[in-house]
Amino acid sequence: MTSRLPSETYAGRLASVREALRHDGAAALLAGVGPELEWLLGYAATGLERLNLLVVPAVGDPVLVVPRLEAPAAREAPGVASGTLALSTWDETDDPFALAASVLDAAGPRRAPGARLLVSDGLRAAFLLRLQAAVPGAGWETASSVVGPMRRAKSAEEVALLRAAAAAADRTVTGLFAGRLVGRSEADIAREVRERLVAEGHDSASFWIVASGPNTASPHHEPGSREVRAGEPLLLDIGGRLGGYCSDITRTVWVDGGDGVGPDETFRHLHGLVEEAQATGRAAVRPGMALQDLDRAARSVIEAGGHAAHFIHRLGHGIGLEVHEEPYLVEGASDVLVPGDAFSIEPGIYLEGRYGVRIEDIVVCGDHGGDVLNQAPRGLAAVSGR
Ligand code: ZN
Ligand code: ZN
Repeated sequence: MTSRLPSETYAGRLASVREALRHDGAAALLAGVGPELEWLLGYAATGLERLNLLVVPAVGDPVLVVPRLEAPAAREAPGVASGTLALSTWDETDDPFALAASVLDAAGPRRAPGARLLVSDGLRAAFLLRLQAAVPGAGWETASSVVGPMRRAKSAEEVALLRAAAAAADRTVTGLFAGRLVGRSEADIAREVRERLVAEGHDSASFWIVASGPNTASPHHEPGSREVRAGEPLLLDIGGRLGGYCSDITRTVWVDGGDGVGPDETFRHLHGLVEEAQATGRAAVRPGMALQDLDRAARSVIEAGGHAAHFIHRLGHGIGLEVHEEPYLVEGASDVLVPGDAFSIEPGIYLEGRYGVRIEDIVVCGDHGGDVLNQAPRGLAAVSGR
């Protein structure tokens, strides 16, 4: 995934992490392939069996341990290209875990007994076990305590990428709903979703839920051979990545097949409730409010409409370099929204075997309220599909 942020952004993030490590009393942060590495260096390495490991000590210079054959690719990452980061390459017959340990050794206190090492959430268990054997006596914790809050607060340049991704997702759903749908399989429409996501500006497509008729009641439905018919709902929940940042949008429409087979009473009722719940959630966004209170605000609309038991998931999830990341809008989450939080608001109602409706937008928490990134129409729409 091509980073579209400048080198200075990454240098600033590295500096902030090192300061946070010192403040926290941790010895070093170790990031394997994954969103932490991407956030710190703009390096979206391929996570295979060879160890890539960014070692960020609280004191001393960061080093990227990288297989020699991947070093040219690593050097192109904006966080590496600036030259502020040393590469330590290993050959096929070397032991990369011993190399990582020697990098940590370069400053003695980091391997002092009980030194706290913070590892990225997605570091492979097999890598972690080898590192633990190579650095005995250290204490191991997850890095999200330090990096998580930093990744949550999106900068203006990150919001710009999220906005561009959201706009591309908007165009993808509106374009699809304007085209032929009736008689096509969900899998065929999903193929068009992937093509359109890229054609509209994403670097890649990430997911493509296409659910027709009763399949709309399965929130994470896998598109299959079922053909879309006139006189039933169609739900799209799709997203891709643009400059590393994710889009995620859901719209549910009624396919009337051009014959005016309009939505029935049940679907109208469900769609109306979800639309009102989603609008209530968007309007309620304020910095300082508890995450669970935003969930409650939207959920109360669906509860009042008699469908509490059919809203079977949290209201939303954070989004950034990952399509699901902190913060999570869910009952029990008492920490608060902060300006720069980017997250989905996606209430749904699911009547198993019959209908489901979900409407989802990405929203950024501003100083006074929510900045809604998606603009595709949300209202009850009957599309021809012919
Ligand atoms: Zn979604
Ligand atoms: Zn989502």
